[in-house]
Amino acid sequence: MNKNQVIYLDNNATTAVDAEVFEAMRPFFCERYGNPSSIHRFGGSVAAEIEDARRKVADLLGSGFRDSEGNAAEIVFTSCGSEGDNAAINAALTARSGRNKIVTSIVEHPGVLAYCKELSHHGFEIEYIPVDERGRLDLAYAERAIDDSTAVVSVMWANNETGTIFPVETMAKMAHAKGALFHTDAVQAVGKLPINLNASEIDFLTLSGHKLHAPKGVGALYVRRGTRFKPLIFGGHQEKGRRGGTENVTSVIGLGKACELAQRNLAIESVQLSRLRDRLEAGVRERITHIRINGDLANRLPNTSSISFEYIEGESILMLLDMLNICASSGSACTTGSLEPSHVLRAMNLPYTAAHGTVRFSLSKYNTADEIDFVVESLPAVIERLRSISPYWEERDK
Ligand SMILES: *Cc1c(COP(=O)(O)O)cnc(C)c1O
Repeated sequence: MNKNQVIYLDNNATTAVDAEVFEAMRPFFCERYGNPSSIHRFGGSVAAEIEDARRKVADLLGSGFRDSEGNAAEIVFTSCGSEGDNAAINAALTARSGRNKIVTSIVEHPGVLAYCKELSHHGFEIEYIPVDERGRLDLAYAERAIDDSTAVVSVMWANNETGTIFPVETMAKMAHAKGALFHTDAVQAVGKLPINLNASEIDFLTLSGHKLHAPKGVGALYVRRGTRFKPLIFGGHQEKGRRGGTENVTSVIGLGKACELAQRNLAIESVQLSRLRDRLEAGVRERITHIRINGDLANRLPNTSSISFEYIEGESILMLLDMLNICASSGSACTTGSLEPSHVLRAMNLPYTAAHGTVRFSLSKYNTADEIDFVVESLPAVIERLRSISPYWEERDK
């Protein structure tokens, strides 16, 4: 293994742009730079390419609806996953005006949680569905929380920290039974899990390009046909009036290509990814004691492994891994310099000594068995070194 090569196991944070995606984007920078809204063919021909990308996104999501022009009109391009989350909730609140409750989960991404917190300062009531120690939603709680005053239920398809998959199709039905709309942040699910929106009752779905080998700064929002939609960004008539602003053409083309590739390779890639992940986890279990693997092990993303190395700090593990050119991430949000475990790990009520020592490894199609083996062989020395200077390790079992 080349010593200078980075082993990138932080793909839930962002992914490399696929070389094929990059090639598809290339002509739209310096050659085909026209504005899709222009009357001339130089710009207008770009609009046709955007519609082609839109159909590719729709195909990956199983959104079969085509309007009279053959366009996949349920897809709105956005600037990122966070915008999609905000826009969906904003639109739902307008479509269900008169209702003032939002039901979401305690383990959502900040794209949903921070917006809900903002809305709580504007008269909306937010109810958070809790999770158990495996990160699974309390569905009985959800059933009670969703009522006639609920405008929208927003629950992620899969959690970015543990990979736990949530029963969003069931929850969409639960929401509809009470007249509420349903949104899912599927940023971690799209490209990793099969999705068929035609067969579901989901009203809004958010995805983000940079989590599936498209560039950063582009995303899409699925809006089920017939759902009233109020834009978050007012401007020109782009996106059928649903999102103002000249299209991010290059990135939209890239997102279309990434969705096409994901659809073609999803089944094979998810098997490869889960094999690599299992190889990592088996290797760690074999070599290191006092670990826990977090999340719903029977029902999680193929690429995500959240491992708690008890009695040490996740940040210290990451720093030592970084010196070996291994990129992973911790379950901590280092706000104000304190090493508090993330809201997701806290919600799962992991023991203090485990939550603090959590590392998330998130794989992509570019990882190899050699890389995983290198990580598995490197980890024991890292963990041993940190435990040898940890007061918690000294005190364990006493
Ligand atoms: C990364 C991520 C987002 C945010 O996407 P951006 O494009 O970075 O705004 C939202 N939700 C989940 C689950 C994510 O993992």
